[in-house]
Amino acid sequence: ATPTSIMVGTGRAAELGVLFRKGDALQRLESVGIVAFDKTGTLTEGRPELVRTTAAPGFDEGEVLRLAASAEQSSEHPIARALERAAEGALPQAEEVEAIAGHGLSARVEGRRVLVGAARLMAREGIDLGPLSAAHDEIAAAGQTPVLIAVDGHIAGALAVADKVKLGARAAIAKLHAMGLKTAMITGDTRATAQAIAAELGIDHVEAEVLPEGKRDAVRALRDAHGAVGFVGDGINDAPALAEAEVGLAMGTGTDVAIESADVVLVSGDTKGVVEAVHLSRAVLRNIR
Ligand code: ADP
Ligand code: MG
Repeated sequence: ATPTSIMVGTGRAAELGVLFRKGDALQRLESVGIVAFDKTGTLTEGRPELVRTTAAPGFDEGEVLRLAASAEQSSEHPIARALERAAEGALPQAEEVEAIAGHGLSARVEGRRVLVGAARLMAREGIDLGPLSAAHDEIAAAGQTPVLIAVDGHIAGALAVADKVKLGARAAIAKLHAMGLKTAMITGDTRATAQAIAAELGIDHVEAEVLPEGKRDAVRALRDAHGAVGFVGDGINDAPALAEAEVGLAMGTGTDVAIESADVVLVSGDTKGVVEAVHLSRAVLRNIR
């Protein structure tokens, strides 16, 4: 590609809110065979809301939410904000708060040991879901994130947290497919939840329950199977995957760490930007061949 054609291409992209931080990314994008997306904040709005509370026998719904929200007070996870917004009244101070990456957290609230997180956190702690097992599966099958709560070693509640799919995400995926690209989702969320959302969006491959350190490995595995990878993400834990991919595309609405690790920035956080970026890279390269 001539420097001039690349300049024209990146200039056109900038007008569309697609910023190429590195000129050669325009060329590398043309060779990409699969585009992988982070889920939360990239395909979804990233502002989950509590939509359902189920208490285990012997527990009260309000109490379960109060304990969970208290335990989450110092967490930066979007789930923590959802529980805080939903809980009513003053929350007791949590102590001994310990985040368990990719699983949830543990804390002491009013002298009780509270665990909040995914089913695999409960499995790890040897806590049986018992009567809440069906609620867990229903929540996940609906594409919502199940948040389980245990109190002093016993399952106490199952909350459902729902995050809206971004407007236009489904159309963007369809356009990528029409351009001959494959698509994937890489997420730390529960497998059934991820699969339900992927099905709604028409995404080909799902890598779920990926630990924060595992996103880079997931990009490598997709490359081995499908060729050069474009990865789209917004979070701190997306940075290694953004750097690993042939082309890393960060949401402009995302964290600084993600933006700094990316080759391309989609200013408004619109998934349509991915389609525009691929389209422009092809147009520029076609002109110069
Ligand atoms: P993601 O945000 O992509 O889902 P994470 O690695 O942050 O990835 O978390 C993976 C899963 O672990 C979440 O989907 C959630 O089920 C659970 N989890 C992690 N942190 C928390 C938390 N603070 N509260 C509740 N659940 C959590
Ligand atoms: Mg995210």
